[in-house]
Amino acid sequence: MAFDLDFDDPSLKAALTLHEGQERQGPGSRATTELLLSLAAPLPERPRVLDLGSGTGAATLILAGIEGAHVTAVDVYPPFLEQLRTAAEAAGVADRVHARHGSMDALDDLPDGSLDLIWSEGAAYNIGFGSALASWRRLLSPEGVLVVTECGWLTDAPSKEARAYWDAAYPLRGTGENVEQATAAGYTVTATYLLPDSDWVEAYYAPLDARAAMIDPEDPHAVAAAEDVRREIRLYREHGHEYGYVGYVLRPRRS
Ligand code: SAM
Repeated sequence: MAFDLDFDDPSLKAALTLHEGQERQGPGSRATTELLLSLAAPLPERPRVLDLGSGTGAATLILAGIEGAHVTAVDVYPPFLEQLRTAAEAAGVADRVHARHGSMDALDDLPDGSLDLIWSEGAAYNIGFGSALASWRRLLSPEGVLVVTECGWLTDAPSKEARAYWDAAYPLRGTGENVEQATAAGYTVTATYLLPDSDWVEAYYAPLDARAAMIDPEDPHAVAAAEDVRREIRLYREHGHEYGYVGYVLRPRRS
């Protein structure tokens, strides 16, 4: 399922605009990215890295800090890539970061086995977790590693409020089912890690909530986007223990 974003859709545009200027466009943190990176070790010298659905590049910049790394960040939304380029300049790593405008399911120009590390925080869902994993596998070198975070159920019996929200937004699976999908896509799962509550609340929702409070009250699309954000935050406050982001560290299986 390709996810065709229509940037002329004013509702989508308003939702994306709320995320512009933010460090992250989904739950995560420097500590989590660094921990997942440590679980991806060892990497070869001068690793070739791809960050898919990079957003404004919070993870991209951390990955660019790996000794000798070259990172290609891919996203469909140009303003996020502009912010990423500016941040890479400011961090002095612009020569090691390439911001590529395009879809994470349109990577046919990249040769088989051409990457040592593929990274994707909170973005694989856009093209479906299982199909994303399956389509990216050929890109990894034999010793390569894929690190992906994905939201999923942490309980077998979610409340009807949480179930209704996620069934409409993006039907979730449990960690076990995601591990099964990764295995079916040709990987060995070498680690999983549940992102802490602070990755949602402090790193993502607090700045987003502040931004939602500053929208133009005369703009109905911005008002609706801000209300969606508040609804999502309320759901997390009341039911966040029922779902969470999990990081998966995946290596291509040889057989
Ligand atoms: N990885 C970033 C982070 O953790 O802050 C961004 C996560 S955000 C939840 C999902 C990102 O995926 C957005 O930046 C969005 O523009 C991007 N995206 C959506 N569909 C995409 C696609 N088909 N190809 C590439 N990027 C896509």
